[in-house]
Amino acid sequence: MKYNPKIHKLNHVCKSIIGYFEKFICGITYSNNELIVLNYHSTPKKFNANFEKQVLYLKDRFNIISPADLERYYFDSSWKSNKPALIFSFDDGLKNNLNAVSVLEKFNIKALFFLVPNFINSEKNNQKEFYITNIRPVINKEIDSEPDDFTALSWPDLKLLISKGHEVGAHTLSHNLIAQNSTLQNSTIEIVNCKSVIEKALGIKINSFCSINNTALSVAKKEKLLIEENYKYHFTTFPGFNAKRKDSMLIKRRNVESYWLMGVFYFALGKMDLYRWNKKINTYKDL
Ligand SMILES: [Zn+2]
Repeated sequence: MKYNPKIHKLNHVCKSIIGYFEKFICGITYSNNELIVLNYHSTPKKFNANFEKQVLYLKDRFNIISPADLERYYFDSSWKSNKPALIFSFDDGLKNNLNAVSVLEKFNIKALFFLVPNFINSEKNNQKEFYITNIRPVINKEIDSEPDDFTALSWPDLKLLISKGHEVGAHTLSHNLIAQNSTLQNSTIEIVNCKSVIEKALGIKINSFCSINNTALSVAKKEKLLIEENYKYHFTTFPGFNAKRKDSMLIKRRNVESYWLMGVFYFALGKMDLYRWNKKINTYKDL
């Protein structure tokens, strides 16, 4: 599959129009009990200023919580907030996430990073190939062009992030899991061994799992059971917002990227297109 800049731009123009329309004409409302989980991927340095603009926008409107607050949000009846809660998550464990961290640290924001141990453990010279083969086969060269855009965060990088209050979670062992093609043994390696490799490398306990690509394809019943048996939280690719003390094993997220202009960002924070996901989410719940 080749990256098509025309389709990419058209898609963004349409989303921007809907985003501005929803924000300024209809208005987007959230309840103070809601939790919004943003999911970013690559965060190249050249978009730091744009990312900071997004953070400033969010900071005024949401109660940005730390991964450590998830325990209270999901399991403690005393959770109260005067704004909807929001948490930052980053998938795939790219080195360039350190650029985003440098912005988040200005505002004392702690984030959650989902890791692929085989990416981290592959030889530095092979990491770009691993990334393109297993994680992101379609590259937009206007966005990702620096070595750090194709390199994994190292274990020492991650130890430093954890010492600063950030958290990490599992994102499968090799970012290669399609439920219908996977045996129970392979799914166990991807979901369960992923956790033990990270725990051993970092000397911490892992509670969070994040499914890859499209949860509806990467997680079937056997994978769902493995996740439930081994983790406390399952961050999915289903878009939406979350309700307190409900479904810590089906956490919906909103995909956003650091290079997105505000119209597309408003679209992602909106609720207009969510209805079309209800059927898929209910199918997943019934597995
Ligand atoms: Zn991923």
